[in-house]
Amino acid sequence: MSNLFYQTKSPRPLLDRAQGIYMWDVDGKRYIDGSSGAMVSNLGHSDPDVLAAMRAQMDKSTFGYRLHFQTESSEELARKTAALAPEGLNKVFFVSGGSEAVESTLKLARQYVLTQGQAQRYKVISRYPSYHGCTLGALAITGYAPMAAPFDPMMQRMPKIPAPRAYLDGLDADDPATGLHYANMLEAAILQEGSETVMAFVVEPVGGASTGALVPPAGYMQRIREICTQYGVLLIHDEVMTGGGRTGRFFGAEHWGTVPDLIALSKGFGSGYVPLGAMIARDDIVEAVMQNGGFIHGFTYAGNPLACAAGAAVLDQIAKRDLVGNAARVGAVLQERLEGLMQRYALIGDVRGKGLLTAFELMADRATKAPLDPALNAHARLVDIAYDNGLIIYSRRTRGGTSGDHFLVCPPLITSEAQVDEITEILDRSLAQYMAELPA
Ligand code: PLP
Repeated sequence: MSNLFYQTKSPRPLLDRAQGIYMWDVDGKRYIDGSSGAMVSNLGHSDPDVLAAMRAQMDKSTFGYRLHFQTESSEELARKTAALAPEGLNKVFFVSGGSEAVESTLKLARQYVLTQGQAQRYKVISRYPSYHGCTLGALAITGYAPMAAPFDPMMQRMPKIPAPRAYLDGLDADDPATGLHYANMLEAAILQEGSETVMAFVVEPVGGASTGALVPPAGYMQRIREICTQYGVLLIHDEVMTGGGRTGRFFGAEHWGTVPDLIALSKGFGSGYVPLGAMIARDDIVEAVMQNGGFIHGFTYAGNPLACAAGAAVLDQIAKRDLVGNAARVGAVLQERLEGLMQRYALIGDVRGKGLLTAFELMADRATKAPLDPALNAHARLVDIAYDNGLIIYSRRTRGGTSGDHFLVCPPLITSEAQVDEITEILDRSLAQYMAELPA
């Protein structure tokens, strides 16, 4: 009997070891990590250069409290991170995960508006569905009702606008009118709330777990930027999942060339070697807050030298091996293979994504987009079948958390085309098995 009480859908075996895109349980069974954990292990497992950098740091120090010492590795990682960030965003604040990164953006934003004499601005608009983390602040802006419901009385409810799911609404995502249609919902929400009360808008450049690799329609990101600028609303890009090269650009928003005011980063940034995340902020925002008493926020493990040494080595490997380029190239092949499966399985209603942030969605009817009967629990069952077949994929309920079944196929950025074929073959077999189980 385990003393742990994590939530798991089915009992899982003990992990023995992991290498590259593969993982082995203690019985010697091999699995392809087709979801990089939870879209984390961008660099794959047990990279020897990252492990060597970690060992070298461990021999020097594994902890130095940020109020007592500067550390070389945190300075180095901050420098490398700022060099990758858009112009004007050079200030980096380290944390240990995605929820902490998002919380940090919200609190820095709030302190900044106070320095601007705008105490009435506190509302944070986000999208439904969306996922921004499970701490109470991040949960308040997360658009996922089942996860938030028990905690509702403890949180300040924040306004939401619909995520731009053109494929469900029967709209053409390539038509700029579609992008405008969804982005203008932000303007309507700002006006409805009272623009003087709105502090920030938070958006995942490519949707993650909640929408299943939802790519915004043409013009959407640009119009969002325009609206935020017009109404003095801070734009926060939640790049926790999209950052670190996953979409085929280091930051997901680079696909649209839009520059936010604050960025939350985690997952692929540390690639799972150690808990690591970061907030990246516009220089003048940080300067204003620092000149007005400083940032009243911080976590004990922030800037941990071991985590930062691992992070710096991860960034080096991503650059040295052009893993961002590989994500774009191999992601295109993976998407093509998933589209091939879509032609053979009527159950697949949509294939979407960017780079190696790729997903497919099962539907009862592709034409009407009707979801499968929620009682079938397709999101859990297909994952279990694939798992038994040696492939790990990641699934969620896509329609507000209560129905719709999408599956993220997001292997590490080191994945080769031949390994994409391996993944496709197991998926093909698993889908056939799933179909055979369905009631006639
Ligand atoms: N933001 C996004 C877009 C995420 O995908 C996640 C995690 O899935 C988070 C925030 C929260 O990150 P963490 O689970 O590391 O706290």
